[in-house]
Amino acid sequence: MVSKIDHIGLWTWGGRVFNWKKYLDNMHISGMDTVVLWHDKVPVRAQEIQGYAHSLNIRVLWGFNWSWNSPVCLNSECDIAEWRDTVLKTIREEYAPVNPDGICFQVGGTEFGGKCRFDCAVCRKSAANGVGSLFVKFAGGIIDAVKKEFPDLHISAGAHLGGVHKSFEELKTLNTSINIMWEDLPGPENYIEVPFAYNWDPQETALTNRTIDMVKKMCQLRGGQEDVAFVVKGFPYRWGGQDPMLLEDFDLEVLAEVFEKKWSQAAGYCEKRLADALTVFRIIAESPARSKTAVMLVEHGLWEYKRYYAAMLINEALHNPFRDPGEVVLATREKMGLIL
Ligand SMILES: [Zn+2]
Repeated sequence: MVSKIDHIGLWTWGGRVFNWKKYLDNMHISGMDTVVLWHDKVPVRAQEIQGYAHSLNIRVLWGFNWSWNSPVCLNSECDIAEWRDTVLKTIREEYAPVNPDGICFQVGGTEFGGKCRFDCAVCRKSAANGVGSLFVKFAGGIIDAVKKEFPDLHISAGAHLGGVHKSFEELKTLNTSINIMWEDLPGPENYIEVPFAYNWDPQETALTNRTIDMVKKMCQLRGGQEDVAFVVKGFPYRWGGQDPMLLEDFDLEVLAEVFEKKWSQAAGYCEKRLADALTVFRIIAESPARSKTAVMLVEHGLWEYKRYYAAMLINEALHNPFRDPGEVVLATREKMGLIL
């Protein structure tokens, strides 16, 4: 078995993509093959966007809400039935006509503390002990219904470790045809450590054995059938928006000025944490999982304007993590023409 990460790409809110053609172009020339576009609803040019992505050998996973950031009780049969019907209707009417490469979802309760809309005792207890089993109860039921109607649809289950980290192994009972996309790996203090916090903290502590152990387990949670993905955070962000746009260069230039400083900060941060990131990426690459994916969260970052060094550095590390940090830095700088 070749030790490598099979699919590398970007995760973004589609409504924060200011020029989707250039965004995909910059992915393509960087050797990326997967983009996750998250929306409140299917964007108006979904077919065209996916067609263009395919011309560049990039697959598109369309993300939408299965109760994420919505009032929900993961233990309520009523809520499960309501969301199951909503999800089925959304796929049937909006995403199936696009003939999607895949969809991905997130549920409530795994991010933002996991508060139940009824503040029920079961959810309160699982918020304290980990919402893994409720995740399986809620999402597992919806997945089964979707698979029954759309057996060949690729589904990626997004799971934030903020709510699930104490009980993440419960997800091993999910259908093995489902990809699990892990976000926010646990660190000693804020849960979030490597591959980087949503907002970087220069004082962030180093990689721990606990995180290494969790990544190993995540890569073989369902044995050799594991299909695993990780979202690499730590880049400029802003979420929301409507449809992906096609702004002109002069607009991109103005917008990019806002984020230049943030990207510069990210460069120093990513270089500082590169050794830790490489350790995690090696574990993923060497794991027995049947499929391994890593997508960097680059939302609202003007990636369509410029392939920024910080993202390119991590991209280089993901493509071959079996190098030391100095080699990865050098290779990135050479490819970007930063070394004369
Ligand atoms: Zn509840």
